[in-house]
Amino acid sequence: MPNHLWMQEEHHAFAETVRRFFAEDLVPNFAEWTKAGTIPRPVWAKAGKLGILGATFPEDYGGLGLSRHFDAVTLLEQAKAGDIGWGFGVHNIAAHYISAFGTDDQKARWLPGLATGDKIAAIAMTEPGTGSDLQAVKTSAIRDGNEYLINGSKTFITNGGSADLLLLVAKTDPTAKGRGVSLIIVETEQLDGYSVGRRLKKMGMKRNDTAELNFADVRIPLTNLLGAEEGQGFYQLMKQLPWERLIIGFSALGSAQCALEMTLEYVKERRAFGKRIMDFQNTRFKLAEVATKVDILAAFMDQCLVELDLGQLTAEKAAMAKWWSTQTQCEVIDECLQLFGGYGYMSEYPISELYTDARVQKIYGGTNEIMKELIARGLDRD
Ligand SMILES: Cc1cc2nc3c(=O)[nH]c(=O)nc-3n(C[C@H](O)[C@H](O)[C@H](O)COP(=O)(O)OP(=O)(O)OC[C@H]3O[C@@H](n4cnc5c(N)ncnc54)[C@H](O)[C@@H]3O)c2cc1C
Repeated sequence: MPNHLWMQEEHHAFAETVRRFFAEDLVPNFAEWTKAGTIPRPVWAKAGKLGILGATFPEDYGGLGLSRHFDAVTLLEQAKAGDIGWGFGVHNIAAHYISAFGTDDQKARWLPGLATGDKIAAIAMTEPGTGSDLQAVKTSAIRDGNEYLINGSKTFITNGGSADLLLLVAKTDPTAKGRGVSLIIVETEQLDGYSVGRRLKKMGMKRNDTAELNFADVRIPLTNLLGAEEGQGFYQLMKQLPWERLIIGFSALGSAQCALEMTLEYVKERRAFGKRIMDFQNTRFKLAEVATKVDILAAFMDQCLVELDLGQLTAEKAAMAKWWSTQTQCEVIDECLQLFGGYGYMSEYPISELYTDARVQKIYGGTNEIMKELIARGLDRD
C-alpha cells in the first residue's frame, strides 16, 4: 500500500483522528443516510469540532492554519472508509475561494462558521444549459442600487439542498464571456426568490445531496461579491481549479485503495475448485496490477501535492492528475468487483457502491475530455 513520504508524525496523528471519526460517526450510518439521500448536520458539527473542516483555514478565521496535506489526509481517509459522498471536498473548496480572494471582512464573516460546520457550503457553477463551457453561464447578477438582482438556475449542485452558503458563478456583465463572470457569496437562509428544486436521483453517491437551485429576482448586497472587483470570477476559478482537481484525485486514490483492501480480504476467504480465489494465477496477476496502479497513482498525487505547496503546480499537471486518477479508480474498482463474482454486483457488498460512486468522478470537476483538452492546449503552446 502507498507510503506517503510527506506524512510526518502530526499527519499520522491527524489521520488517526479522522479515521476514528469516519469509523464511528459515518460508516455505521451509511445505510440510513443512503436511504435519506443526505448526511445530517450533526456530522458536520462533529467534523468541525475535531478540526477536520477548518484544518487548513487561517488561524485568524477559526481554522488550524495547517497545510493542504491535512486535507489530503481527510480525503484519503474518507475514501478508504468507502465513502466519497459526504460533501467535505466541495465545502472545503468553497472555503478556500473565500480564503484566497475574500476581503478581510468576508473572511471574518464566513470562514469561522464553515470551520465549525454551522454553515455548509456549495459551489454553484453548472446550469441546465451549460456545464463544461463555463463562460456560457446565463445566471445573471445585475447591479441595482447597492444590491445585485440575481436570476437563473443551477443544476447538479453537491450539498445544494442543505447549503447555507453558495459560491455562485454568475454574469455581472451578461454581454461579455469570461470577463463578465463574477463569484458571489449567497447566504440562502430566508432568502426571497431563492428555492431548492429537485433533489436529484443518481446512480451512485446516493448519500450526497445533489440539487437544482433557482433564483428569481434574488437580492444580494454588493458586498457579497467575492473580492473587490467584478469580472474576476473566471480568473478566480482558474486559480482554484487545480486544488479542486487534486481533491478529486486524492479521493480517487483512497477509493482505489479501499477496493484493493476489500478484495484482498474477500479472495483470501472465498473458495472455488477447492482453492482460495487468491490462489488462481489470474487473481494474483490482476491484484498485482491493481496494487501497482495504486502505488503509481499515489506517487503522482504526492508529487502534485508537493508542487502545489511550492506554488509550482500547473493547470495542465492538475488536469493530468484528475483524469488519470479517476480513470485508474474506475479501472481498479472494475477489476476488483470482477473478483467478487456475482456478490460484487449485490448492493449489500460495499464494492458495488464503490463501483457506482466512482463513475461520476470522470464527469464532475471538469470532464476528463476537458482535462485532456487543457493538457493538449499546453502542449500546443509555443
Ligand atoms: C453527482 C454530480 C455532482 C456534481 N456537483 C457539482 C457541483 O457541486 N457544482 C457544480 O457546479 N457542478 C457540479 N456537477 C456538474 C458537473 O461539473 C458537470 O456535469 C460537468 O462539468 C459536465 O457538464 P455537463 O453535464 O453540462 O456536460 P456537457 O458539458 O454537456 O458535456 C457533455 C459531453 O461532451 C463533452 N464535451 C463538452 N465540451 C467538450 C470539448 N470542448 N471537447 C471535448 N468534449 C467536450 C464532455 O466531456 C461530455 O462527455 C456535478 C455533476 C454530478 C453528476
